[in-house]
Amino acid sequence: MDKLYYVTTPIYYVNDLPHIGTAYTTVAADALARYHRLKGEGVYFLTGTDEHGQHVARAAERNGVSPKEWADRMVTHFTEVWRRLNISNDFFIRTTDPRHMEVARNFIQLLYDKGDIYLDTYEGWYCVPDESFWLPSQLVEGKCPQCGREVEMVQEENYFFRLSAYADRLLEHISSHPEFVQPDIRRNEVISFIRQGLADQSISRKTISWGIPLPFDESQVMYVWFDALLNYVSAIDYSLDEARFRGIWPADVHFIGKEILRFHAIVWPAMLMAADLPLPRQVFAHGWLTVEGEKMSKSKGNVISPHDLVDEYGVDAYRYYFLREFSFGYDGNFSRENMTGRYNADLANSLGNMVSRVLAMVERYRGGEVPGPGVEEAVDTALRESADLAVAEVDRCMERFAFNEALQAIWNFLASINRYVDETAAWDLAKDPDRSDRLDTVLYNQVEAVRLTALLVLPFMPATGEGIWERLGYRRSIHEHHLPAAAAWELFPPGQKVSKGAPLFPRKDAAR
Ligand SMILES: [Zn+2]
Repeated sequence: MDKLYYVTTPIYYVNDLPHIGTAYTTVAADALARYHRLKGEGVYFLTGTDEHGQHVARAAERNGVSPKEWADRMVTHFTEVWRRLNISNDFFIRTTDPRHMEVARNFIQLLYDKGDIYLDTYEGWYCVPDESFWLPSQLVEGKCPQCGREVEMVQEENYFFRLSAYADRLLEHISSHPEFVQPDIRRNEVISFIRQGLADQSISRKTISWGIPLPFDESQVMYVWFDALLNYVSAIDYSLDEARFRGIWPADVHFIGKEILRFHAIVWPAMLMAADLPLPRQVFAHGWLTVEGEKMSKSKGNVISPHDLVDEYGVDAYRYYFLREFSFGYDGNFSRENMTGRYNADLANSLGNMVSRVLAMVERYRGGEVPGPGVEEAVDTALRESADLAVAEVDRCMERFAFNEALQAIWNFLASINRYVDETAAWDLAKDPDRSDRLDTVLYNQVEAVRLTALLVLPFMPATGEGIWERLGYRRSIHEHHLPAAAAWELFPPGQKVSKGAPLFPRKDAAR
């Protein structure tokens, strides 16, 4: 059996509620997973939650519950929002899962046995909310360089991972595998960070108890980042089920936010090297979202819950907007006006109206029964060619996670369909009984284009793809059809009955 295509999101920290930033990564990973399934590939799509660490323990204490109870409560916010956004993850990992904890302990024991972990005294600056250690030189005006909050001086005996020993191998790997860290701007950042010299990494804490106890020293728990990174291998049974693990690992891509690049592009590969495991094929860091031009933050009160936008626009419009508007890998700005504009222009108009018009014409002129095609004319050839172009272009874009460009390619195709509908003017052909054959061909081609549209939008807007498929009268699920075979022209079975159905995207009032 072929190795599964393995895509991951970061596991989200249970102390924050999911917002449009976390949803962005997850929706992108979902579209990618669904695209590979559409191509008939076996896929393993993983997301989950990061539940250990001092920050969680403190929040639980403030709320008068145990850390596990706190985590259980917080996790439901994630599982609920992912269900609502139609996220098709194959598994949801929690770092408090006993299996995860067992794998994490096996992994760290292996590194300890190999001599890559040693005991030393740590003294330095620590940011509690970020669970990050910082060198004095890294502090910005004495505060955490990542979040700007106060840091604490900590001193204790900790176990250290010999990260420094892997610096040369890491540099070698990143240089010889330009695709390993992407986009290039992030890759360059990682290279220069390693060149400045890597310090060994403290990987345990003595003063806190909410974590995974070290198998070789139960008085200490695993540093939360070391624990969290291991979710990518614990979810697929590393050290528990070798055959299963080999059928999925290495990850094809880890999608992350750029703020956790260092852990994923330096610490994680070094941990894997130490365990003699293959490295993930790629770590891809996307940019940050601003809201109406401002950075999202609790203090500004501008953190947006995906639920609010789904209530307002619907799940597929939500998924479409974020994948279409932002260039994955770069920062982008969310604005309601912009989202409403895209909803009306791209979804209500170019897509929704087009599908309604085409199917309404089949109902009006052929009683809903799609006729067979006849002689192909130049305008028909052009439509077919634009379909082929879109299918090829989407594939190229998805290879490099250019979701916005893939959608642009699909919308170029939709523009061709709309042009075809206008130019062939079925309503004029319908007035002339001598042109009945030509009307059949035109109606057929329009429906065929709608069929391809359903397949192409499916990974991005699953409910829309399914909804169009249903209107096209198919009995078998759209998910049983795979690219590229299903993208061949003239696969629509003549005689099948279609129905216009309700509008896919009713127009929104811009004044809202
Ligand atoms: Zn911080």
